[in-house]
Order: sequence, then C-alpha cells, then structure tokens
Amino acid sequence: MPNYDFVIAGGGLAGLSLAIQLINSPLRDRSIVIVDHDAKTRNDRTWSYWSDHPTLFDGITCRTWDQLHLASWTGEMRVPLRRYRYRTIRSSDFYEYARHELLQLPHVTWLRGKVDAIEDGGDSARVSVNRESIAGRWVFDSTYRQSNLLVDTRYHHLKLHFKGWEIETAQPAFDPSAATFLDFRTPQNGATRFFYVLPFDERHALVEYTLFSALPLLPREYEQAMQTYLREVLKIDDYHIARQESGVIPITDRPYLRRLSKRPDGHVMSIGMRGGRIKPSTGFAFTRVQADSAAIVQSLLKHDQPFDIPEDSARYRLYDSMLLDIMEREPERIQSIFAALFKRNSIEHVLSFLDEQASLAQNVHLFATLPPLPFLQAMARVGRSRERVVEVA
Ligand SMILES: Cc1cc2nc3c(=O)[nH]c(=O)nc-3n(C[C@H](O)[C@H](O)[C@H](O)COP(=O)(O)OP(=O)(O)OC[C@H]3O[C@@H](n4cnc5c(N)ncnc54)[C@H](O)[C@@H]3O)c2cc1C
Repeated sequence: MPNYDFVIAGGGLAGLSLAIQLINSPLRDRSIVIVDHDAKTRNDRTWSYWSDHPTLFDGITCRTWDQLHLASWTGEMRVPLRRYRYRTIRSSDFYEYARHELLQLPHVTWLRGKVDAIEDGGDSARVSVNRESIAGRWVFDSTYRQSNLLVDTRYHHLKLHFKGWEIETAQPAFDPSAATFLDFRTPQNGATRFFYVLPFDERHALVEYTLFSALPLLPREYEQAMQTYLREVLKIDDYHIARQESGVIPITDRPYLRRLSKRPDGHVMSIGMRGGRIKPSTGFAFTRVQADSAAIVQSLLKHDQPFDIPEDSARYRLYDSMLLDIMEREPERIQSIFAALFKRNSIEHVLSFLDEQASLAQNVHLFATLPPLPFLQAMARVGRSRERVVEVA
C-alpha cells in the first residue's frame, strides 16, 4: 500500500491551499498526495476576498478594487477601502497555479479518484480511493460525504446558493472602479437574497445572485431573478452570457469536528467547508482557509501534529448564530442591518469585525449602531437553544 506523509482528500480551495503552504514551509520535502475525483481545470467558481496585506495568491488575482458599492431600495453608497483591497481570483487560475507549483516537486503526487472511506489507525490513516487503499501519516479531508450533511435541530441549518453569469454587454454598462459587495435590490421573498457584481471592465462583469434559504430553488427561479436584476436594476438589455457558475453549500452554526475520529490520537483532520471554515453569516471562506492552512503547518512544525490551531471564538460564533437566526426568521431585516453596519461604522471596523479580529469593546460599539430589537430577540432564542445543547451534552 503506498504510504505518504500527507494525504489531502479533496483538491479544491482548502486542499490545494494547504498543499501550497506545506511546500512553502520547512516541510517542503515531505511526500504529499492530493486526491480528487475532478480534473480541476474548469473555472467552476470565483473567489473574492479583502485583505490589508500581501498574500501568496496576489500574483493570480484577476482584478483588484479599492472601493466597494452597496445598494438597497432605500439608497446606495460607495465605500473607499482605505488600507484594504478587494480581490478576485478565478478558480481555474488558482487550480493551474497550484498544479504548476506542486507538480514540479517529485514527492507530490496527484491522484484522480473518488474517496470512498477514510479509516483512522493508530499512527496513520487509510484512505480508500476507487477501492484501493493509500496510507497517510496525516490525512486532511475536505471531501463531501454523507456525514457532512447531518442536521442537528438545536442549530441553524441553511443553504447558501450562488448563481453567477459572467456577461459581456454590447455597450459600456459597468463602473469598474468599485465592486458591488451587496445589492439587495431583489425581492427577498422569505429569504436573504442579494446580488454582487464584479466589474472587470466597462463591458464585462460577473453578476452573481446569492441567497441564504432553508429551501432549494428551481433553476428557473435563479434565472428569472437574474434577468429581472439585469433589466430593471442595472438597466442592461443587450448582453451575452460568456460563462456560468453555481453552487449550493450548507451553512450552519453547529460546531465542526476538526479531529475526524473518536480516537484521541486520530490522524484525520477536517479542512475547508468540512472543517467549518466557511463563515456562517457571510459565506466567505477564502481568507479563513489561508489562515487555517498556515496554522496547521505551524502546528505540524512545532508539535509534529496538526491540531494545535486557534479555536474559533465563542463570541463570534454567538454573533454568527444570531445572524443566522435573523436570516431564518426575519430575513427581510438583514438588508437594513447591513446598511447600518456599513453606514455607521468605518470600513476598518466592519472588515475587522467580519474577519473576527475586532475586540469586545469594538464589538459593543459596533452593535450599538445596529437595530437592537432583532439581535435581542435572536440572542434570547439562541440562548434557549444553547441551553438545550447543554442539557443534551
Ligand atoms: C459558486 C461559489 C462561489 C463562491 N464564492 C466565494 C467567494 O467569493 N469568496 C469566498 O471566500 N468564498 C466563496 N465561496 C465559498 C467557499 O470559498 C468555497 O465553497 C470553497 O471552494 C470551499 O473550499 P473547500 O476546499 O472546502 O471545498 P471545494 O473547493 O469544493 O473542494 C472540495 C474538493 O473535494 C473534491 N471532492 C469532493 N468529494 C470527493 C470525493 N468523495 N472524492 C474525491 N474528491 C472529492 C471536489 O471535487 C473538490 O475539488 C463560493 C462557493 C461557491 C460554490
């Protein structure tokens, strides 16, 4: 049975980010295998993120903005990003860059196949791929399997839907100086729904319809919402769809296990969405995945095991739960909450809050600028369900 130092199950954002961090560290000579059932050549999603410092991926960003645009039926605003930049990476560029960096190294292997099972052993774990076994001293799992999807009724469980059209217009139609971060000018219909627009130049943009909802949508519902937004809000009639992307991901405030086995000495770790790296209240994951990958590598270097990483903040988990609770029960309120957040706070405070970096005192100041009632009600409900969690535990 082939034996590796690191088996990375799932070569998407989290798996490849971890592999890149490993080969940029003193662990660069260890053997790595990346297993994915997909060839990872398609531009299947577009990642945007903000940052106030250089990242490993700045060289492959396709566009950077220094202003954000926000809109709802009650008004619009433009926010200069000051020390931050908002950046976009096409996933195909990311996959190609990762392949290029990783395949130069003789001890990195790419295996095309489906991960059927992962079994933890004493000092390594076995991964079954296309019914054959490979062993890894450490296995990092970002694959989607049934156990990821279990619903625990004590927590919130929503779906985050993305449907994007990269469009080309006949006439100049976009202002490329600002990315539209949130545009709520679409009927909410019992869910939190918004658009974001990434204008690459005056005639090309990715227009993405995004919603948090408990229920699935029919394909024609996405299309109708997008056609209406383009026609009635952006006033664009003449366009061509050059590329499409879509995805539906589970969103929950249920804690995620990072050590994926009952053994205290388990050798399987969850990463990416599987490891709870998608921020529940925003759906952003890119920056969190990079920070997590860096922390895993540091833990391996210092302790010869990957689990000594920072725990998620209980305070920010509570805020996420409150926002999910409002999204679930009173989704129409979300647009006024985000409008107040950006209107009444500096961009540095908003982004450090969304990055979970702001202090408690800064949080108190920020919450004082938001409508209090929905948060007080949500806190009471979340508190009651947390009591149920303690009773059951
Ligand atoms: C359309 C879309 C747009 C998004 N935009 C943003 C954004 O702008 N900014 C942001 O921060 N986040 C965004 N996200 C959220 C998040 O960043 C992504 O979902 C991200 O790809 C999650 O990383 P991951 O590694 O956990 O999963 P993935 O990137 O999906 O990687 C998982 C990999 O595992 C493979 N796999 C799954 N099961 C198996 C199996 N059984 N065997 C073998 N291989 C398997 C898959 O083929 C895939 O390559 C977006 C998500 C979507 C769907």
